[in-house]
Amino acid sequence: MHIVQTIVSRGTIVSSHPLYISLGFKTKIHKVFNRDHMSKQRYVVIGAGHAGGRAVEAMRMAGFEGDIVLVGAEQHLPYERPPLSKEVLQARPGYEFPFIRPQEYYKEQNVELRLGIAATSISSAERLVTLADGEKLSFDKLLLTTGGSVRDLTIPGVGHMGVHYLRTLEDSLAIEAALADAKDVIVIGGGFIGLEVAASARQRGCNVKVLEISNRLLGRGVPPSVSDYFLNLHQSHNVDVRLNTGVKSIERGDHLSGVVTSSGDVMPADLIVIGIGIVPETKLAEQTGLKIDNGIVVNEFCQTSDPLIFAAGDVTNHYNPLVGRHIRLEAWQCAQNMAIAAAKIMCGDKTPYAEVPWMWSDQFDSNLQVAGMPETWDNIVPRGDLASGKFTGFVLQDGKITGAISINQPRDLRLVRRMMDTGKSYTADELTDESISLRELSKR
Ligand SMILES: Cc1cc2nc3c(=O)[nH]c(=O)nc-3n(C[C@H](O)[C@H](O)[C@H](O)COP(=O)(O)OP(=O)(O)OC[C@H]3O[C@@H](n4cnc5c(N)ncnc54)[C@H](O)[C@@H]3O)c2cc1C
Repeated sequence: MHIVQTIVSRGTIVSSHPLYISLGFKTKIHKVFNRDHMSKQRYVVIGAGHAGGRAVEAMRMAGFEGDIVLVGAEQHLPYERPPLSKEVLQARPGYEFPFIRPQEYYKEQNVELRLGIAATSISSAERLVTLADGEKLSFDKLLLTTGGSVRDLTIPGVGHMGVHYLRTLEDSLAIEAALADAKDVIVIGGGFIGLEVAASARQRGCNVKVLEISNRLLGRGVPPSVSDYFLNLHQSHNVDVRLNTGVKSIERGDHLSGVVTSSGDVMPADLIVIGIGIVPETKLAEQTGLKIDNGIVVNEFCQTSDPLIFAAGDVTNHYNPLVGRHIRLEAWQCAQNMAIAAAKIMCGDKTPYAEVPWMWSDQFDSNLQVAGMPETWDNIVPRGDLASGKFTGFVLQDGKITGAISINQPRDLRLVRRMMDTGKSYTADELTDESISLRELSKR
């Protein structure tokens, strides 16, 4: 075992980063897998991100005593991604990066790790996974937690040094290192990740522009009034937000020089971060012949079109009984709890994964939380005044809350999630009336 000397992420060397060193990243010398106990079952998990990490843990907690192999293309132990656009970029002193479990845990729990190596094919007929180094792993049941990959921006100049995407720890450390010297930062994409990066870069003292191709921030995932709230928030922190602004090319002289917008404006930048979404990482599943439709299609038991192959997390288009349709979520809660549900189901549990969708975002001093997945965010029932910075809004359908959104009201949203869980009916009048506490309503 040795400390990794050089990590290259999209052209930027980040191995000397203090956080990187303090994390003590290590390569693992893998034993050749030796299957001693032929009588035992073997579960293989492909994708050692948040979902994969939680799944192997849940398999052991569910009492599974067979072999577990966790295969991950990244070289790291499973970790959570939310801090990558927040605490890591803000270089918060003393911040401890959230690996799901330390290395010893996997040893103690007898979970075989294959890290830094991708699975390249699955044979469902032979129940065999092949890895990039040629190793073959037989499986009795397989879980796919392959997540998503950044959506590429296909314009000239994206490959220049100084242009970054953000998905992995290396990406985040590379951006963090670049922020230390950057003066002018351009963020392409005004979605959750783009806006969190913009806020972090501004907090580091950079001049920040956000270029968003549509006419509002955060797209259709929030009501227009909440888009406006975040526009005002960023503008009040002197982030220069340009709506209706596409990008034609990224230019470079001796150094990165800037972007040319669709209207021909040239904007200087010494650091560019692209955040235009992700695409589900379905290549393996597709090649295996599993049903794919905007992700790996699974039922409420996390089961793919092959009953012995399961999937969880960002990569899935899963049936959520509480929403009443298939949905694809890119959120921490779903990655964690769906993975746990899938692991338990693989071990014999009969409980479906059914949970009110939930996610959050932190930008400057504002906390946004979104629950549910309504078809549309039109006709919001408001509780509180958005302009005051404390607000909760509801979408009602036949008296049931199908969506809720809160700004700086995390406690409200916790109660509302409970109310949504029960499926009880509420009137717009009682939800709007702040003299009636949500706690009271949630107990009804
Ligand atoms: C910067 C950032 C900030 C975020 N902030 C928030 C937030 O504030 N709130 C929130 O709710 N959510 C947030 N999220 C979303 C949340 O982190 C994701 O929903 C979650 O990480 C999804 O977990 P996953 O395990 O399904 O997929 P991933 O985390 O993408 O993990 C998939 C893993 O599978 C590996 N893999 C893929 N293909 C193969 C293969 N063939 N062989 C081996 N391994 C493979 C990948 O390398 C990766 O490590 C954020 C995400 C990012 C990137």
